Amino acid sequence: MASDCIFCKIGSGEMASDILYRDSHCFVIRDIAPKAPVHVLVIPNEHFTFLSSLTPGHGTMVGAMLLAAEEVAVREGISQSGYRLVINQRDDSGQMVDHLHMHVLGGQPLGGMA
Ligand code: 5GP
Ligand code: ZN
Repeated sequence: MASDCIFCKIGSGEMASDILYRDSHCFVIRDIAPKAPVHVLVIPNEHFTFLSSLTPGHGTMVGAMLLAAEEVAVREGISQSGYRLVINQRDDSGQMVDHLHMHVLGGQPLGGMA
């Protein structure tokens, strides 16, 4: 856990937030500034900043994040209408939070990739 990391604090319960889903690898919260009717974040329990830090041993965790995204999409009613998964990495992506996370966006037509 990184002591100054907001997502570590939410994951550990130090900072209150509604946890929509949790398993032994990751948890899901709503984005505080949603860019679509459904906008949630799938966050690994372990603190990483970049995918380049992952090893093949993290494959189960990465798979769990994808399964969590689909599970929450079902719960939010967007599994069939469709959704987009986004992982921002480094400067050109505009990554703001340095704890790896995957955005799940849906609930309306999302248009083309910007
Ligand atoms: P990034 O640009 O790093 O991929 O996205 C970070 C996301 O985290 C942003 O969409 C932002 O709105 C969201 N965010 C930042 N701080 C908080 C917070 O304290 N709580 C929640 N739920 N979301 C946050
Ligand atoms: Zn963290």
